[in-house]
Amino acid sequence: MAGENHWDYVLVGGGLQNCLMALALLSARPATKLLMLERDASLGGNHIWCFHAGDVSLEARGFIDPLVVRRWPGYDVFFPHRERRLDESYAAVTSERLDQIVRERIGAASRAQLLTQAEVTSVGRDWVRLSDGSEHRARLVIDARGPEQLPLHGVVGYQKFLGLELRLRRPAARDCPVIMDARVPQTDGFRFFYWLPFEPDRVLLEDTYFSDGPELDLTNLRQGILDYARRAGLDVAEVEREERGVLPLPTRHVPVPSAESPLVGGYQGGWFHPTTGYSFPLALRLAQVVARTMPDRLFGPDWTRLVARHRAGLRYALLLNRMLFGAFLPEDRYHVMERFYGLPAATIRRFYALTLTRADRVRILCGRVPRGFSLRQALASRTFP
Ligand SMILES: Cc1cc2nc3c(=O)[nH]c(=O)nc-3n(C[C@H](O)[C@H](O)[C@H](O)COP(=O)(O)OP(=O)(O)OC[C@H]3O[C@@H](n4cnc5c(N)ncnc54)[C@H](O)[C@@H]3O)c2cc1C
Repeated sequence: MAGENHWDYVLVGGGLQNCLMALALLSARPATKLLMLERDASLGGNHIWCFHAGDVSLEARGFIDPLVVRRWPGYDVFFPHRERRLDESYAAVTSERLDQIVRERIGAASRAQLLTQAEVTSVGRDWVRLSDGSEHRARLVIDARGPEQLPLHGVVGYQKFLGLELRLRRPAARDCPVIMDARVPQTDGFRFFYWLPFEPDRVLLEDTYFSDGPELDLTNLRQGILDYARRAGLDVAEVEREERGVLPLPTRHVPVPSAESPLVGGYQGGWFHPTTGYSFPLALRLAQVVARTMPDRLFGPDWTRLVARHRAGLRYALLLNRMLFGAFLPEDRYHVMERFYGLPAATIRRFYALTLTRADRVRILCGRVPRGFSLRQALASRTFP
């Protein structure tokens, strides 16, 4: 390729997906000619992403480990009739760290470039156009502009949350994350608190809902989180940071990857878990397969295998969404998760990673029906045929 506007890869959007993509590509081929275009001034927005550390292969640890700000050896879940500690390593990445590391890696690479405050207005098979009228060409364009680009038909529910990062006056007794504390009033759907103890005197508390609607009543949620903190014995000095999210949960339609350019990645391309909204392991898997192959030979056997596995995972997760939202009243949905957390730890991890085995799938659907299941509700619901 020749010319300063000709690249091996143009990455549209500098969010989680394309940051992992850039790291994987530069780690596999440091001389790759790569351009990343991000609309905002910084990369990765304002998030804390968590993932099960066991989902990161040895090969990827070299470029993932520097992103991790905190790692815990396990986590807890609490339901009205179940408490459990899972000895599965859990890790957190912040937007600030992602921005820092990706800038460093791109800055250190001889033929890579990052343009921030660069809004892309149109994306073609091998070209992109920016709002200032400039154009770039690439052997492979990877479009990952995030959830706002996701087509909204077929959405019956939302995972929505408000998180407050709290500075404490006294150290908290807990140093193990709580992935779900559902021992709270089940208002507005399945509701739970999520608790990440970053330092003895700094915790993230999130009030999370699997709800029918996308609305967040921020004033009441902020107060509710502070009340929960007080009941949990946390002595809050100040709120240091706030994050919120409203992720659409589909029941039928998720964009499925095809062997065509531009390659649509991340949330926009359906590389997320339709039930949990987690996308870290899926974005990483996609990045690794892309990095393993030259840009114009991507759509080969590795790609076909990845897509087949991903589609099977999506189909199953969509079925679970139809059950969760269709066959249970909002206030009964927690029974499904309470039963789910009785399964083997490895099945639970594979569920989050969307890599369930056939035996896992049978295990999840068979056995005692969760309390609250209503055939009448299921039939009346428009989520079932
Ligand atoms: C608050 C929050 C917390 C989450 N926590 C987790 C978690 O713990 N674990 C997990 O696995 N998942 C989590 N998720 C879900 C998922 O991982 C994120 O949504 C993830 O960021 C999706 O990655 P992405 O790259 O597809 O999109 P994004 O990270 O949203 O990135 C898209 C990027 O594209 C840029 N962009 C958009 N339009 C343009 C344009 N026209 N031109 C140029 N750039 C553009 C945006 O500015 C943005 O930086 C969370 C989501 C939210 C909202």
